[in-house]
This record gives sequence, structure tokens and C-alpha cells, in this order.
Amino acid sequence: MGTDERDAGEPGGDAWDAVTERLTDALALAGVEEAVARRVLPPERVLEVAVPVRLDDGTVEVLTGWRVQHDTSRGPGKGGIRFHPDVTSREVMALAAEMTVKCAVVDIPFGGAKGGVRVDPTVLSPAELERVSRRYAYDIARLLGPDRDIPAPDVNTDERVMSWVMDTISMLEGRSVTGVVTGKPLPLGGSYGHVGATSTGVTICTKAACARLGIDLAGARAVVQGYGKVGAPLVYLLSSLGLRVVAVADVHGAAYNPAGLDPAALSEHVARNDTVAGFPAADPIGRDEVFEVACDVLIPAALGGVLTAPVAGRCSAKVVVEAANGPTTPAGDRVLAERGIAVVPDVLANAGGVVASYFEWAQSRQGYRWDPSTVSDRLHATMSEALEATWQRAAALGVSLRRAAFALGAERVAEATRLRGLFP
Ligand code: GLU
Repeated sequence: MGTDERDAGEPGGDAWDAVTERLTDALALAGVEEAVARRVLPPERVLEVAVPVRLDDGTVEVLTGWRVQHDTSRGPGKGGIRFHPDVTSREVMALAAEMTVKCAVVDIPFGGAKGGVRVDPTVLSPAELERVSRRYAYDIARLLGPDRDIPAPDVNTDERVMSWVMDTISMLEGRSVTGVVTGKPLPLGGSYGHVGATSTGVTICTKAACARLGIDLAGARAVVQGYGKVGAPLVYLLSSLGLRVVAVADVHGAAYNPAGLDPAALSEHVARNDTVAGFPAADPIGRDEVFEVACDVLIPAALGGVLTAPVAGRCSAKVVVEAANGPTTPAGDRVLAERGIAVVPDVLANAGGVVASYFEWAQSRQGYRWDPSTVSDRLHATMSEALEATWQRAAALGVSLRRAAFALGAERVAEATRLRGLFP
């Protein structure tokens, strides 16, 4: 089976088709002329690389990786790198296009990019993971640079991987190029507040959306699907806002307690068992059953394509806040809309991560570290402004928050494309 057929026909549908549908709609909604719209839609650059890696037993595995730059009219490409056994070229293209829109919605001077390696990192030793990271970084190095394209962590990658990518590029150039990645550890030029910034942004959006939708935060029931880099801090943050997190799922199972899950006890359980499944102060439920749990706020915080039409038909939330990238399919969107369930879309809701990345990039370029409160104040201001602009646009156009956010983003990208003109 070819790379590109893998998504088609699967329950989550084809991610690139979904983004194309949304972007095409947005360009029309924003009144962008055909000649510019045709330039905004396709990815500028798709690089596929073979990534040969020596395993600890001496054998060589050849992995496939990608780096996609979707649009760089507003600035250098920006977007994470994911390591996952199901990554496809079309998924990376879709995620890169989402980054284009996301960076424009929060109005930071970046275009959209994304990278991925088709690999299961859970079966790699630390040394193998380092060799995969470094060889992949080398293979895509010609596309990267603080003014070209700046990777960051995404699914299954973290500050260790970013350190290796940064070091590999620095070795190739013969100087420290700290601005080539974000999500670095603090001693290597990372920023305060980058860890947890996506979850903070999701929390800001949840709070604002509940206020606007008349949902009282105190005691409101929340469900979090995913307990990784984004989901785990969210359970704490939502609880500290007064919400009751009644169910949490990860890849192995889920925990449900209508009285609310204790964030600290849950976190200790996961530290010991590597999963939320089996958490004693809860009823065990299937990982996909969390979508049906009675709640006010549903937060998908794992992979894309999970909120399909049938799942959306069973969901009882008043609002869905998308912490993951692409969790809702276009068919799922239509069902949620028919059922009057509001959706704060990924390109707004999870933008806190890339906003913090922008701050880190700016600090790396300045060679000057901002204090934690400066980062936090600016993150709150940027997210609140984007939320307000999206909400206003949705009201003005009489459309969903997703269509409004995409229209806002598409309009800004189109404006930059127009202003730059056409080379040559
Ligand atoms: N992976 C995150 C996202 O999907 C962050 C990307 C970045 O900071 O470049 O938004």
C-alpha cells in the first residue's frame, strides 16, 4: 500500500482532504480572489527522506520521514516534529497547513510547517532514539534555519529530541544555532513557560468559551481524552479553575468518576503504572467510551480524526475544546453543529504552544531571557486577543468558530501573499 492511501477509508478520514475542505471554505468566506487562493492552498515544499538508522543490535533499519513547508508568506516555517508509526505524508501536509492557519490566527510572524518520522519510539532505546533524531535532522537540514523553518516538539518528541536536532544543525554549521528549534531545555536557550504552554492556552480558551456560553466553571464537568504532554497538565489546570474532571483516557484505557478525579492521585498512579487505566478511585471504562460520558466540556488531547460523525452523535458536551490537532473530522463537525455543540477549534485552542515557541525564538535571537511573568502575560494577551477576534468574526459571519478562525487565518495569509507579489 502506498503512503498516501493509508488514511483513506479509515474512520478518521483523510487529514489532508479535511484541511483542504476547511481552507477552501475559509478562502471563499474571506473573499480571497481565485489567483491568490490557488497559491495559498498547496504546500510549498514536501521533502520525503529515507532515514537509515543503526539499531543497538547492529542491524540497520530504514525509516521514512518528512518535512513539509506549507506556506511561508508570513515568515519562516514553524511546526513540530512527530514520531509515530502511523505518520503519512498526507498527514504531515495537513498538519503543516494547520500550522499556517494557526500562526496567522494568533498573528505571529511564522508560516506553517510540520515534520514526521514513521517510527514507534516506544520500542527504541535512548541511544536509538538519539540516532533517529540526529539522522532525520541531518536529512532535512537543508530546509531548516532560524529564518527558514523552525521545528518544535509534537507527538512523541520532547526537549531531548530538540536538543539533538539543535546540536546536529549546530555541528553542521560549526556554530551554535539555538534559534533553529523551539521547545529546547532551559540551559540550551529554552524559554520559561514553554512546557505546559499548550495546556495553558487550552485552559484560557476553555475559561473564555464557558463564560461566553453561560457555562458556570464551578463544578462544570470536563472530560480529557489523552494524558500526555498536553492532557496531563490540563487535568491540573482545569481542576484548579474549579471544573470537575470526570473522565480521562489514554491509549490503554480510561478512568471515570462522576464526582471528579483527583489530579495529584491520578498523576501518581500514572507515574507508577504508565497509564490512567486501573486508577483505583474511579470506574474503569473503555478508552473510546469517554466521548459518551455526560459532561459540559470535552477536550480531545491526543491524536487526530477521533471525533467522527458517529462519535459526535453520541457526545453530550456543551462545548468541545480541541487541544489535539485535527481531532474532529468535517463530518463530525457537521454533526456537532446540528446538535448545537460549540467547538473551539485546534488552530485557536492549542495555539499556546506555538505562541510560546515564538517567544522562545525571539529570546534565542535576542540572546536575552525573558522572566516567567513576561512570558505568561504575553501568552495570555496573545491568546485572549485571538479568541476575541475569532469570536467577533464568527458573530459577524454567522458561522462556527472553526470556520471563523480559518477565515481569519486565511485572510491574513492571503494578504501577505498579495503584498509579497509573485516571484519572478
Ligand atoms: N506541536 C505544536 C503544535 O502543533 C507546537 C508547534 C511549534 O511550537 O512550532 O502547535
